[in-house]
Amino acid sequence: MNKIPFITKEKAEEIAKTYPTPFHIYDEKGIRENARLVQKAFSWNKGFREYFAVKATPNPFLLKILQEEGCGVDCSSLTELMMADACGFSGSDIMFSSNVTPEEDYRFAHKLNAYINLDDLTHVDYLDSLVGIPETISCRFNAGGKFQISTHIMDSPQDAKFGLTREQMFEAFRKLREKGAKYFGIHSFLASNTVTNDYYPTLAKQLFELAVELHEQTGAEIKFINLSGGVGVAYHPDQEPNDILAIGEGVRKVYEEILVPAGMGDVSIFTEMGRFMMAPYGHLVTKVLHKKHIYKEYVGVDACAANLMRPAMYGSYHHITVLGKEQEECTYLCDVTGGLCENNDKFAIDRMLPPVEIGDILVIHDTGAHGSAMGYNYNGKLHSAELLYCEDGSVKMIRRAQTPADYFATFDFCDIMGKYLPKK
Ligand SMILES: *Cc1c(COP(=O)(O)O)cnc(C)c1O
Repeated sequence: MNKIPFITKEKAEEIAKTYPTPFHIYDEKGIRENARLVQKAFSWNKGFREYFAVKATPNPFLLKILQEEGCGVDCSSLTELMMADACGFSGSDIMFSSNVTPEEDYRFAHKLNAYINLDDLTHVDYLDSLVGIPETISCRFNAGGKFQISTHIMDSPQDAKFGLTREQMFEAFRKLREKGAKYFGIHSFLASNTVTNDYYPTLAKQLFELAVELHEQTGAEIKFINLSGGVGVAYHPDQEPNDILAIGEGVRKVYEEILVPAGMGDVSIFTEMGRFMMAPYGHLVTKVLHKKHIYKEYVGVDACAANLMRPAMYGSYHHITVLGKEQEECTYLCDVTGGLCENNDKFAIDRMLPPVEIGDILVIHDTGAHGSAMGYNYNGKLHSAELLYCEDGSVKMIRRAQTPADYFATFDFCDIMGKYLPKK
């Protein structure tokens, strides 16, 4: 299967006249259609809600779109909470799933009346000493061991820093009840970027069984079970994408097998997807600046790992389309690189592309989540603009590109950088 960009060469060239490359662009129509499909997949559950993981794409315009589609937000830091607050999320619209949490973060989450999801047993007393224990409280579970689906090992929770052990979950629930908590949530994130319809149902089964035991042994009333993130996308064109309707149906089956017979048929299912909600609906659009022939063939583009870190950080595959050459044969073997002084600054290694020329515009696919968000300023490279390709075909800037003055702004207490500082 081939990946088809949501913008054409003509459109990209037109946009680039106003917003020079590189830029991130998001597809409003795709985001909305997918969000509706997620709602549909879990519509069997009365209290279902998706809490979009803000860290994946922290942009207020995109959060507003998801808010219109009925989503809440999952935050894990003070500034993410601030963005959620600014967008009009409050109370049960916000899940605060943090770890190693500073005092001020808990204080602000409490002020917003957000659901707080504790990452450690010691945080029961910590939270209590700061703001008291709220009526509804959640704990994050770490199952330990290896997380396996059939014969395929997905991840190693035993090596993950997150969550409470099984024994600690029981202790925490007892303690929280003593301190006045009435309603409980259970949360777990066992594997990242899973491209299989079995991940959520397998995780749900573990959490549902745990919920029944916690309820029976501690008397805690379980209000929600949060399957968190981890639902992946098909970055490679040969991968079979997840089918969210099948995933929702798989979770419904285990819900009816385990929770309903235990008299817990009123438990709400929450999700905290980031990648699945946004990744396919973002492109990083970049222009070819140079071609270089040494021991290998290199295509140098105006974006770099500072705009998209995943390939450099994880060796991740991101598909690349040369706009206007969609139908041409891929006969040109090359590495596609950015300009950082780091040899891992490569968007693709040994990739077959159509013959690329200087000035060609490339679309790097599936950058809508964990893309711009992971951007950094190494080598003084600046964050690129974020644009929204609106449903009516117009293009709106939703974050401007960083300028040198933005980059230097934190030197504004001294005179040395004077002429490069933002104008007062
Ligand atoms: C990162 C994260 C998510 C989202 O993960 P995706 O892989 O983007 O779906 C959800 N919940 C928590 C607590 C996270 O840290």
